[in-house]
Amino acid sequence: MKILRGIGASKGIAIGRVVRMAPPPQTPVCIPVTDPQREVERFFGARQKAFAALEELYQHARGAMGENEAMIFKIHTAMLEDPDYIREIVQYITEQRVNAEYAVYQVECAFEKAFADIEDEYLRERIADIHDVSDRLIRGLRCQDAPELTLLGPDAILIGENIMPSDVMLLDKSKVKAFATQKGSVTSHACILARTRGVPAVVGVAQGLEELANGQLIVLDGETGQIVVEPSPDVLSGYRERQQANQRRREELQKLKDKENKTADGKRIQVCANIGAMADVEEALTNGCDGIGLLRTEYFYMEEKHWPTEEQQFLDYKAILLRMQGRQVVVRTYDLGSDKQAAFLSQEKEANPSLGSRGLRLCLRNKGPFLAQLRALLRASVYGRLAVMFPMVTCTWEVEQAMALVTQAKEQLAREGLAYATDIQWGIMIETPAAALISSQLAQMVDFFSVGTNDLTQYTLAADRMNESVANIYSAAHPAVLQLIAMAAQSARQAGKWIGLCGDAAAEETLVESLLQLGIEEISVPPYSLPEIRDAVRKAVAEGGGNVKTAL
Ligand code: PEP
Ligand code: MG
Repeated sequence: MKILRGIGASKGIAIGRVVRMAPPPQTPVCIPVTDPQREVERFFGARQKAFAALEELYQHARGAMGENEAMIFKIHTAMLEDPDYIREIVQYITEQRVNAEYAVYQVECAFEKAFADIEDEYLRERIADIHDVSDRLIRGLRCQDAPELTLLGPDAILIGENIMPSDVMLLDKSKVKAFATQKGSVTSHACILARTRGVPAVVGVAQGLEELANGQLIVLDGETGQIVVEPSPDVLSGYRERQQANQRRREELQKLKDKENKTADGKRIQVCANIGAMADVEEALTNGCDGIGLLRTEYFYMEEKHWPTEEQQFLDYKAILLRMQGRQVVVRTYDLGSDKQAAFLSQEKEANPSLGSRGLRLCLRNKGPFLAQLRALLRASVYGRLAVMFPMVTCTWEVEQAMALVTQAKEQLAREGLAYATDIQWGIMIETPAAALISSQLAQMVDFFSVGTNDLTQYTLAADRMNESVANIYSAAHPAVLQLIAMAAQSARQAGKWIGLCGDAAAEETLVESLLQLGIEEISVPPYSLPEIRDAVRKAVAEGGGNVKTAL
């Protein structure tokens, strides 16, 4: 038995078997060879392996999901049979006298370039398939076959260097019980998604993770950040008991689902959910919430190849507003950029992306798609109780420009005879120290604030939310962060506006009382955390007591 230590990033205990995630593919380097024929044979060997893997995947997917979903593997097989593709690779190896990996990569680049100029959208989208097939061949040549997520057993715990938000979004919870990574931090978007989906996770495991082998039994504790490798029977049964006790507590709390969220001293607090996908709406309602406090619109469309259309968004927002049946839904406009690089963004590489063009800054530079989002929101507003907020605000002129676009969208809709609600609330996120410091001016411009502690903490403490090596500094409970929250809350109160908090600090049971004492009136947490946080709110004293304000 061995214990590895990392940072607990998403609560819960998972007991399962190691499945190693493939390392991110590295660009093959050019290696001159003296025997190109041998490289050609290696290439054909990798192609044969790829055929076999694709056939297995096709059969599995057909059984599990049906013919349509499985077809993609047949398309990939057909590409491996494409005579032009094969000829080009063999020719590259023999003429350039280089390694097979490099030849596959060069031919992939040439095909992608040729496809990128094609008018037909369907054909253009085949670029992703060329990439997949080439990637499979390169991995085969390097003898590093990726674990096929569709073929996982029922208790997989994914282990790897890092994990992308899109991977977490696509995880099949009936098979993947948890994940652990060497890199990453608690407030990375991959971990936010893990908490939203209730997938236990440990990140920043500096040592030992790379030695774990596929199939090894491990216990992962998403609260303490511990990973127990090959646990003894006693340890294993201790964890099973804790797993059951957690489950019992959740069931008990679930019974209080419909009770009003009032603190011990009688203050009504809105306890809402953070969502990033349609499925989260159901999870939020099942766990009991007063509304949606943060809808991260960028997560909905991260995998799209083009900016989402107005119509597509209108239908999504309308569906959510209808499903929430009159409860407030706070939609945040796109918070793209930094580590949220959607497939359709063509941003230049920035030296310091979290200090660069992201959130509202990026939207104001992409006015067409931003206007389409605002129009979609306005049109959907007649189907429920909508509030809209802008992320990453630093200056008053940014809010002025955003509100001018709102006016423009309203005028367009009025001209087109399309309806929108007149009682939409407009707000901003307080997630830069600048916004908190000028909050008295900003409060005059909007209806509400929502504090984003994930970013507010990183910018206040100069500690990258993604960097595990400064995790000892990064804390929303730092007096400097609390001071800024208190300042924003005071500005809101003086202007007669409400203030919520939707950063991950809201889901820390031990912080809830302090946040309420600072004047926070609405808290929004991942759906999975709702039962525990509602419980913490009911036990908290919102006024007086060991007042946090005096401690600042
Ligand atoms: C935050 O910064 O606290 C927040 C809620 O926004 P995100 O985590 O999506 O950046
Ligand atoms: Mg943020």
